[in-house]
Amino acid sequence: MFDSVRVRLTVWYSAVLAVVMVLVSATTYLIVRKTSMQRTDEELAVLADSFLVTFQAELEDAPGTRASAILPAAQQSMVEHRSNSDTFVVLGPAGETIATSSQPISSGEKSGASVTRAIASDEFQRFARLGESKQVSLETIRGEHSRFRAYSRQFRGNGQNYLLIILHSLHAQNEVLETIRLTFTWMILVGLLLAGTGGYFLARKSLAPVVAMGVHARRIGATNLHERLPVLNANDELGQLATIFNDLLNRLDQSFERQRRFIADASHELRTPLAILRGEAEVAMSQPGRTAEDYLESLGILHEETSRLIKIVEDLFTLTRADSGQYPLSREDVYLEEVVAECAHSARTLAREKNIELRVDASSECLVHGDQALLRRMILNLLDNAIKYTAEGGRVDIACRSTAAGFEVDVTDTGPGIPPELQSRIFERFFRADPARSRSGREGGAGLGLSIALWIAEAHHGRLELVRSDATGSHFAVYLAGPGMAYAGTD
Ligand code: ADP
Repeated sequence: MFDSVRVRLTVWYSAVLAVVMVLVSATTYLIVRKTSMQRTDEELAVLADSFLVTFQAELEDAPGTRASAILPAAQQSMVEHRSNSDTFVVLGPAGETIATSSQPISSGEKSGASVTRAIASDEFQRFARLGESKQVSLETIRGEHSRFRAYSRQFRGNGQNYLLIILHSLHAQNEVLETIRLTFTWMILVGLLLAGTGGYFLARKSLAPVVAMGVHARRIGATNLHERLPVLNANDELGQLATIFNDLLNRLDQSFERQRRFIADASHELRTPLAILRGEAEVAMSQPGRTAEDYLESLGILHEETSRLIKIVEDLFTLTRADSGQYPLSREDVYLEEVVAECAHSARTLAREKNIELRVDASSECLVHGDQALLRRMILNLLDNAIKYTAEGGRVDIACRSTAAGFEVDVTDTGPGIPPELQSRIFERFFRADPARSRSGREGGAGLGLSIALWIAEAHHGRLELVRSDATGSHFAVYLAGPGMAYAGTD
């Protein structure tokens, strides 16, 4: 049950509300109680003043000895100050009871008896003794059915010390407080019930869009990845969540689309050499009377196409691993100028076959921290392209130099160039500016060379760019950083 956000929200909300309501009610109750007690104490002090004024007046007016006038004066004062909730007790110098407002002065017989018992109680005796030592004292005394506020005041009469004690019944006050307590308790209970129910429905209503989003999201799969969650209000939190989710779906959709295109293009690329292989094998098998040279020629074609297939599969494997971040780079200190010289050496045979002049400038020291095999592969891809797309008798330049920002490898050729409208696409996978020409014969590439070269440059925190390409040729540049440096840009 507590797994539901609605329930948790409601419980939290109700708990906080309960704490607040209890605190407010308790504080209010305590303030009312304290104020009412203070008022009672003040009233008792005033009552005592008034009682003593009457007492003194009665004493002075009394005929006979003043000693014998104490009791009638006290009784007369009690009669004059008779009230339903106050009982007067006058104690003599030795603590003996001289006068008590005879009949229970509180309401009801029961409480009257209760007053009598309260006066007889040990608590009262203790309070009376305390009163003898203090001019004025105040205390709450527990009776049988209700409590009393006891007030004592010393006074002098007839040259002796007397003690006046007034017991004020707290019955009425307790009833008011009891009513307040009950009202607060009911208010809290009903308030909590209403707030809990209301809170639950409110939470349910507020979270309804989330539930709807969940239902909608559950329906989205690989086949309908283009569907999006409804955004009711893009500015509120749920709208923002839906927008974030939709952005995620967009990225997933694009990634799926790239994967689909990649697989479709890869299958397409593999089909051509496979079809050639099968065709060549069929031709070889269907002509039994072929000479050894014919067979050798067929085997040569089979070998060439198989090599092409292996190259494509290897490139595909590299890119797939690169995409999933699983291509381990074994980094070490690499002298880039040596790699450039080695690549130029490997490509020289190819250049010579096409009568292309290959010029190398790898004189300055360029120490980078990287994967030597991958860096070689990147440079070979660029060099291979330059020779592949340059006409016979042309020229290819490769140079490696150190710049203020890092190191730069430039590959320049005198080939036909890449049409301006296609230049932005040459780093895309399987993209070929001239598919017919690329696929034919030994020059055929699968359109993966530059994608791999770009990935290698980026995996080394560098860049690969087509600097220039026009009718006079093309210029590719790789920018890399030295060990412990981040590449800062071109200079
Ligand atoms: P490919 O295997 O087809 O060479 P790449 O990814 O290496 O694939 O190159 C993509 C395309 O870019 C090539 O098909 C070609 O049209 C164009 N291209 C690359 N390098 C050159 C270059 N030096 N001169 C002219 N065109 C180039």
